[in-house]
Amino acid sequence: MVDGRGRGIQENVLLEIAQGRICRCDATPGVDGGVSDFDLSDCMLIPGLIDCHVHLFMSGTADAAVREWQLNALYGRMQAVIEKHLNQQRACGVAAVRDGGDYAGHVLRFQQTRPPGGHPAVTVHTAGRAWRSAGRYGRLIGRPPGTGQNLAQAVMANHEGVDHVKIVNSGLNSLKTYGKETAPQFPLEELRAAVQVAAYQKRRVMVHVNGREPVRQSLAAGCHSIEHGFFMGADNMRRLAESQVFWVPTACTMQGYAKHAAPGSREADIARRNLDHQLEQIRQARALGVKVAVGTDAGTIGVHHGSAVREEIQLLLAAGYHIPEVVQCATQHGAALMGLPRAGVIAPGYRATLLALPGGPQVFPANLATPVWFMIDGQTVFDHRF
Ligand SMILES: [Zn+2]
Repeated sequence: MVDGRGRGIQENVLLEIAQGRICRCDATPGVDGGVSDFDLSDCMLIPGLIDCHVHLFMSGTADAAVREWQLNALYGRMQAVIEKHLNQQRACGVAAVRDGGDYAGHVLRFQQTRPPGGHPAVTVHTAGRAWRSAGRYGRLIGRPPGTGQNLAQAVMANHEGVDHVKIVNSGLNSLKTYGKETAPQFPLEELRAAVQVAAYQKRRVMVHVNGREPVRQSLAAGCHSIEHGFFMGADNMRRLAESQVFWVPTACTMQGYAKHAAPGSREADIARRNLDHQLEQIRQARALGVKVAVGTDAGTIGVHHGSAVREEIQLLLAAGYHIPEVVQCATQHGAALMGLPRAGVIAPGYRATLLALPGGPQVFPANLATPVWFMIDGQTVFDHRF
């Protein structure tokens, strides 16, 4: 068992679950430790996974026709698409996702009309529609403040029942010019005021942001998480460590682009180099004690809902993370960033959201591809043990 708190691997654990909660968790219970009527021997148990950055309205497919359809479909047809993506998340042992927005607010509408299900549901938090500056990047996931409105006024007037606020504060990480940095989308004071409005509404602010100056400014404004953070530089990494603001590196996006760009093309080469640079930043983050949460940007080309979590975990391991640490990034840190109470950890008093993977840590993270048993809040989601 890896309990999600970033500590060692425990063996021979006896868990007791009642009313959706873990009420007992004994490592090496010994001969009189109790009798288990549910045996997960030969399995690795971790908390249910959390993906802190998804776009539920888009599939990871590279099929241009499908992507175009999803970018224009009306809500009536998107409902099934969102449902399908959540099923994919669930099949991979993902218990909660944090949605980064879509241009039409489809996911918010889905949330608001989602019937209180009889089956255990994946927790969804959504930003609804993101905020961007007029004429700048972000058209697919958001909109600019209205005419005559600044960002804070827009956040104040349009919260629409969203779970958190998403702000786009730089361009897209370039696949044409390696290491290209863009200007922030909003002035610092405007950003700071928007964060204060969100705080007044008890909402956190996730910021899509790449490059040194946009990241510096987003941190100065008090944002709660840095999403992507490509080419943010060492000074920002130190600021992240000091402030303990979360970083969601979404490294697997560059792996996705590298896979789908034409072999030998400039894009493929730059995506690969972007990935290498991001892995170097992740290495620094680990050394400095930056709080990293797993997020995939699922819905981006080559980044598929559910399976992308395994890929991001694999990349964190490649950047030097140890297994208990990477599990923590995908569970406890995700729960903390999403503000999920009593989640992301296997310990007494916590929600019984548990994922069993075949084999031990020696086959992790490959075994994430074939989870054998999954429980959310004490309810079995699937059981493939036999
Ligand atoms: Zn995104």
